[in-house]
Amino acid sequence: MPGKALLLSAALAVTAAAPMLMAGPAEAASPTAEQAGKPADLGRQTLPPNDGWASAGTGTTGGAAAPASNVHVVTDRAGLVAALASPGPRIIYVKGVIDVDKTCADFAVDGYTLEGYLAAYDPAVWGRDREPSGPMEDARAASAAAQTKYIKLKVPSDTTIVGLPGATIRHINLHVDKADNVIIRNIRFEDAADCFPQWDPTDGDEGNWNSLYDNISVTGSTHVWIDHNTFTDGDNPDSEQPVYFGRPYQVHDGQADITVGSDFVTVSWNKFADHDKTMLIGSTNNPATDRGKLSVTVHHNEFDGNLQRLPRVRFGKVHVYNNYYQVPDAGPFEYALGVGMESQIYAENNYFRLSRSVDPADLLYNWGGTTLTAKGNLLRVGGKEKPIDLVAVYNAKNDPDLGADAGWTPVLHTGIDPAETVRREVSRHAGAGKIR
Ligand code: CA
Ligand code: CA
Repeated sequence: MPGKALLLSAALAVTAAAPMLMAGPAEAASPTAEQAGKPADLGRQTLPPNDGWASAGTGTTGGAAAPASNVHVVTDRAGLVAALASPGPRIIYVKGVIDVDKTCADFAVDGYTLEGYLAAYDPAVWGRDREPSGPMEDARAASAAAQTKYIKLKVPSDTTIVGLPGATIRHINLHVDKADNVIIRNIRFEDAADCFPQWDPTDGDEGNWNSLYDNISVTGSTHVWIDHNTFTDGDNPDSEQPVYFGRPYQVHDGQADITVGSDFVTVSWNKFADHDKTMLIGSTNNPATDRGKLSVTVHHNEFDGNLQRLPRVRFGKVHVYNNYYQVPDAGPFEYALGVGMESQIYAENNYFRLSRSVDPADLLYNWGGTTLTAKGNLLRVGGKEKPIDLVAVYNAKNDPDLGADAGWTPVLHTGIDPAETVRREVSRHAGAGKIR
């Protein structure tokens, strides 16, 4: 995004009518209706009973009960902002590409320049034992605040955001904050890049550049269903970022992060591709906000070429089943499942397709957890499939060992597929534009 002109779209008014093409709810989810050229009305669909943790209690209906006056079709950022602020329950159809009509230069204030920032905090000048402070860091923070105000859009309770065919949300962070009952489906999310990454020489052994924005952030929220979306860094991949102070200039954060005491979330049939920090469930080891929460189901997602956090979990009872993992290269790959503080991951019937250079012991990483249940998982290397005991393989290489019982058995699911079918089913049907 830096220096690049973003799409300048005309400010079209929010319209209060569902698209004419849509069939009635009676035809929802019917492949026959779809084949007949009548797409089901995705805006009125609700999370099926028992479909993961988001079906607990009151379930997840989003804006499905919206009266006609609360149904919006949005084609640009201003329209999306207006629809999110409109009375609920609300259904928001995203049409076409929604982008940010400003550049990074438009957000920079108080004399911030990357050149100035690099000059001020070069380890040769600033050292490596304290975080940046002073005028240039203040200018960076103020610039970041201006970008946040423009691109971080709050999603309120009782909302469904659903993409019409080809819908894309680019350079924007949807923030489901202190909300209940939200559905986000059938949207391509691209490149929620931070214009003002922060250098932290004390993060890790060599320091890190950290960025603020996820494509979707879920904080302090319950009953959220994230389904059939595609997440990528678009035309701004990490591989094309520069290296400063010997570390990659990381402009991205998560693709779908679920934190700050969120609970009852189902993440299903999404495609997550070519990204570093993909899905964080729990952002702090402090138990005050998250212990007993962060119940999340992650099923039938495709992870293709991602580096880490698939997902990384703290505290939560997280059911990870029937996902398709593709790891093409050991080079950038770090791990798939991050076993964090008091996490209770139940990893079941997933399919891991690894290149020969990837060590299967690296599918798990211990971030301070103690145990994980793994059953029915399948490993494919060099065209050959075989069962893999994730915990045993991890323990053979690492100490301390992880326990093999996360202490719970998931009951909220609509059926676990055999791992053998996961590769075909998920690669065919995960992501935006694939709802049957
Ligand atoms: Ca995040
Ligand atoms: Ca061991």
